[in-house]
Formats: sequence, structure tokens, C-alpha cells
Amino acid sequence: MDCYLGVDFGTSGARAIALDPNQAIQAQVSLSFDGIAPAGNLAECWKTTLFELMARLPAPVRSHLRGMAINGTSSTVLLCDRGGQPITEPLLYNDDRGKQVLAHVAEIAPPGHTVLSATSSLAKFLWWRQHLHQFGDAHYFLHQADWLAALLHGQFGISDYHNSLKLGYDIGSLRYPDWLDLPLLPTVVNPGTAIAPILPHLADQFHIPHDCVIHAGTTDSIAAFLASQATTPGDAVTSLGSTLVLKLLSRVRIDHPHYGIYSHRLGDFWLVGGASNTGGAVLNHFFSTQELLDLSARISPETESPLEYYPLLNPGERFPINDPALPPKLEPRPRDRVKFLHGLLQSIARIEMHGYHLLESLGATPLTQILTAGGGAQNPTWTAIRAHQCCVPVHSARQTEAAFGTALLTLPSSHRAHNEGMIR
Ligand code: ADP
Repeated sequence: MDCYLGVDFGTSGARAIALDPNQAIQAQVSLSFDGIAPAGNLAECWKTTLFELMARLPAPVRSHLRGMAINGTSSTVLLCDRGGQPITEPLLYNDDRGKQVLAHVAEIAPPGHTVLSATSSLAKFLWWRQHLHQFGDAHYFLHQADWLAALLHGQFGISDYHNSLKLGYDIGSLRYPDWLDLPLLPTVVNPGTAIAPILPHLADQFHIPHDCVIHAGTTDSIAAFLASQATTPGDAVTSLGSTLVLKLLSRVRIDHPHYGIYSHRLGDFWLVGGASNTGGAVLNHFFSTQELLDLSARISPETESPLEYYPLLNPGERFPINDPALPPKLEPRPRDRVKFLHGLLQSIARIEMHGYHLLESLGATPLTQILTAGGGAQNPTWTAIRAHQCCVPVHSARQTEAAFGTALLTLPSSHRAHNEGMIR
């Protein structure tokens, strides 16, 4: 049976998932970056990991591969020579040396633009241009996913509009804006666009069909959203990880820098997102994983807790309240730890609903369903508390692996009807 491969490059390792045309998983392999290549050569480590993942796929899957795509971490970037060889170490998603050039970014970009961050791809580009003496040797500025895909199809200089958002690409008009007149920038295509067949020598090396097509990729967080199978405007994914992250599929684009809200494009729709500093990290501070399980089981989700907290580890919040000095509110603290946990879970659920109401009040498509990802999705009591607080169904996402979502990008359109209108 035909197979379609998605490869997710995360912060500590990479994972590949092969799907059949019915979206059933046929194989999955993962590798940690630890010990893959000598320290100080990250790009080589990624390349080795990619090829090793391909080598570890079962031979029958490799011999039936029809398509492949790769997602990387957003704003992880490389500067390469004419042959696609990196001329310096990549800059990672969280590298904030761009703060040294933020004033320059602010001179060229419109106020409130997503590129106005020390970690944006554009800040990294400008930092390299100002500080790297071999900048003159550079021919391509690429994101991690762009570069890895180009190793497979051979065409350096191509990116997708998810990776390129924080470079300043205009996802509304699908072109670079006039204020962004810089050399070396990639040509931007829609995520999932078929670029070219895999290079013949790689097809031979890995026993992959010569007509296996390499597609443009995406970022890790969008890939995870695609994996959740949220498909209709009004569908949302709440990630209950260390922090609370909301993503709502909307017919209307919302960008509101005051609250850190911005939209990615998904075909004809928009993926509107906001991130709060509350979340599981606060739960971890007070409870062990076992306690979370044991004490949650003793909470009655239908009963309203009288406790109204704003659970934060440190002062400061952006969304859904913008107050850089907002103090954590964790009092009064009952002696009964079941009651304390109930208050925390309900308060985080309240902040989640506040977030969705804020997105709606700014014009986003009203919420119709919430899928849940992240560690907190495993807690049925919390799901019941959240369902009780809002008037839409709340479920666990069936799939949250970014590699799964990236594999969906490569399926023939007849097999991704669920994505109709989202990616084209
Ligand atoms: P991240 O990738 O953001 O670090 P994860 O998605 O791995 O986070 O989720 C980890 C978080 O999930 C932890 O902060 C933890 O508090 C929370 N978590 C794990 N198990 C439970 C549980 N049973 N109930 C509530 N929260 C949980």
C-alpha cells in the first residue's frame, strides 16, 4: 500500500511517521539528537538524524513511499552557501541574540508585527548580516525544515508560509511586503506544495521509489494542530502543557499584539493563537505526577470550587490579560489538597474560557469544539471541569504528534478531505 511520511524535528530529537492513504500509521521511528554528531555541528546532526530515520523505516514502507514532508521548530534558521552548505552554525528557535538588532527590525517593520521579537527569523537574519564576517559567502537564508527538505529534493531556496511568517512574509497577500527588501530570502510556497521527486541517489540509497515527491513543510506547532484533525472553523485545540496555549480555527484573521495574539494562514482559514503563562508548570510546582492522578480522582467535577486563583509561577501575563506585573493569585489555600487542586484546575479552565471569549470578542469564529493536547489532556477530571465551564464539547485530540500532521500534508487531496479549505 502507498505510504506518506511526515518527519518532525523537535528540540531534542526527531520522529518520522508513515501513514497509508487512510491515515492509518504504518510505521513510526524516533531518534534523540544525543551523540548523533560531534557537538558544534548541529546541521550535520540534523542531516544524519534524517537519513538514519529513513534507514530505520521498515523496507516495505520505504519501497512504497509516495510523498514526504518535514516540519521544524519555528524560527530555527541556517545561512548557506551556493551549494546549500551551512556557512555557520544554525541559530535555534530560542536564540535571542537578535535583541541586539531589534531597533533595526523596528525601523523597517510595521508597529506590532510578529517579526518584532528577539527570536524572530528576521531578527536572526539581520543579526547575521551585521555580525557575521563571512556573510558575503551566503547565498540562501533557510529555515530548518526548508534546508532538510532541500537535502532530499536538491532545490535550496524554498520555504513555506508557516515557517516564513516570522521572517515577515505577508501571509495575507502571499508575497514579501515592500518593507522587506533583503537578499537571500527563500521563495515561499504553500505548506504541502509538491516540490520535486527525491534525488535519484537518495532513492537508490534508501530503496525509495524515484517518483516519491518531497513536499514543502511547516512548523512543529502547526503540524501538531493538523494532527488533531480540527477541521472546521470554530474547532479549537487547547494545549495543557507547561503553559496554556489556545489555537482556534477561524474564518477571520486576528492579529492583536497587545495580547500576543497572531494568526497563521491555513488555506482559506486562519489559525488564531494566544498563549498564557498559567498551566501545568504551576501544577508541577505543588503536586507530583502521582498526586495529580490520585487527588484528581477525588474531585467531583460537577461541584463548583469557591476558589478563584490566577495560577502563575512568576508575576506577569500577556494573554488573556495583558499585565506584565500581574501577581500570581494562589490564596486562600485550603488545607485539604484535593480542594486546592480543584481550585487550581477550575481556575486554569476559567482562564482558558476567558481566552476563547477574548478571541471571539476580537472577531474570531465562535468556538464550537475543543480538542485537548499536552500532559493535562490525560486528566479526565480536568476535562469534565472544563466541559462544565463552557458550552461546547471538550475531547482529547486523537493525535497530537507533529509528524502525523506533517504526513497529512503529503496525502493526495482525495485522501485529505478533512483538510478541505485548510491547506491548498
Ligand atoms: P510541555 O511540552 O509544555 O512541557 P507536556 O505537554 O509534556 O508539556 O505536559 C506536561 C504538563 O502536563 C506538566 O506541566 C504537568 O503538570 C501536566 N500534567 C501531566 N499529567 C497531568 C495530570 N494527570 N493532570 C493535570 N496535569 C498534568
